[in-house]
Amino acid sequence: MVAREPSILFDPARCVGCVACSQVCPTKAIRVAAGCAVVKPELCIDCDACIRACRYDAVQARLSSPADLARFKYKVAIPSMTLYAQFGRDIHPSQVLHGLTRLGFDRAYDMSWMNEMVAGAIDASFSEMEGPWPKISVTCPAIVRLVQVRYPDLLANLVQIETPRELAAKVLRRRVAAEQRLDPQDIGIFFITPCTAIMNSIVAPVGLEQSNLDGAFAISEICGPLLKAMKLGGAEERDDQISRAGIRWAMSGGELMGMRNTNTMSVHSLRDVQYVFDHLEAGKFQSVDLIEAYICPDGCISGGLTIEGRYAAGRNLQHIGRRLGTQSLFKEEKVRSLMREHFFDLEEEIKARAVRPVAQDLRRAIALERERQELLARLPRKDCAACGAPDCATLVEDTLRDEAKIDDCIFLRLARCEEAAAKRGEGSR
Ligand code: SF4
Ligand code: SF4
Repeated sequence: MVAREPSILFDPARCVGCVACSQVCPTKAIRVAAGCAVVKPELCIDCDACIRACRYDAVQARLSSPADLARFKYKVAIPSMTLYAQFGRDIHPSQVLHGLTRLGFDRAYDMSWMNEMVAGAIDASFSEMEGPWPKISVTCPAIVRLVQVRYPDLLANLVQIETPRELAAKVLRRRVAAEQRLDPQDIGIFFITPCTAIMNSIVAPVGLEQSNLDGAFAISEICGPLLKAMKLGGAEERDDQISRAGIRWAMSGGELMGMRNTNTMSVHSLRDVQYVFDHLEAGKFQSVDLIEAYICPDGCISGGLTIEGRYAAGRNLQHIGRRLGTQSLFKEEKVRSLMREHFFDLEEEIKARAVRPVAQDLRRAIALERERQELLARLPRKDCAACGAPDCATLVEDTLRDEAKIDDCIFLRLARCEEAAAKRGEGSR
């Protein structure tokens, strides 16, 4: 397993230490030290909440750079379906793909067809899947991270089928290598991403040994130059190669729409996902077959690295889909044959990530819990975040891990100063 790098970086020149980011972080991954935010990579689930919360533009996504492109002889772009939704209602996906080739990619491929294939594969697998139920889709990498970090009891619920972006990259690398007579290593395949989570799923993949993608560029970075490139024209419309059902995957509910099984549930936004996962852990929703879950409020169209607002993006995508017609690219017999070859299967088991101090035996566990309660009782429980931790309970956890001191609490320091001043006052009388 590859060690995790933080998917976000804080710019010390811009950060004012306001703690807004640390207070929205769902896994308490951010601390503010010496006036600047820092992230604990092992806790971060790449949800982008901190990027949205910062009013000072001090949180940046760690993504690929033009130098990464230069390493390859042949450069391929695979855009998220969300990219199609950034330019109004009247843009055709083929214009976007053509525009990407004007930005320096040798080819840009649509992957909506693979979305349809994966929906078909999940649908066809239900009869062979074993419990626990419901199954949880692995499309959103931030959801997979959330389960690893906060809900390890739900690991067995994750669908064991690879994501469309990884499968599309695998197929395209083979195809391009054959067409261009290139060594597969000389082909760089880059995803145009709406969020930081996908870049981290490439650098430190979960469920497969090595990603089939070589990097990712943010939609927000590419939109301006791409719009200029598209204005130059030159693209022919090729409706038959873009899947209407496939492009809906950018929106919450889109993955489920292509399935025959309707005993499914779509859950989106961190708060709602946590609500449902808490209930799953308590044994609820057992009669549901599949949960499609996204960390972002409306699915990928509301990712932290997008430009178009989520309501406008959703409307754009609906309109673009209607113009594509109803023709399906899904071939059931093809999907079943690929399933027999295990083409869709995850390569590795997804494992939990322990992030809290784990006691080796019961006696140590009891002692640790007592220490936790004693430290917590000394704190004012105001959750002011002035110590740099997002709340009092997190300062206690950091103290137990020797990463902070309980005296970092400004109220304890104040009390000590007042005590000392009182003593000095008594002494001088
Ligand atoms: S929100 Fe976080 S990154 Fe932005 S200025 Fe405040 S502390 Fe710094
Ligand atoms: S991306 Fe999400 S989990 Fe990671 S530090 Fe930011 S708010 Fe926390």
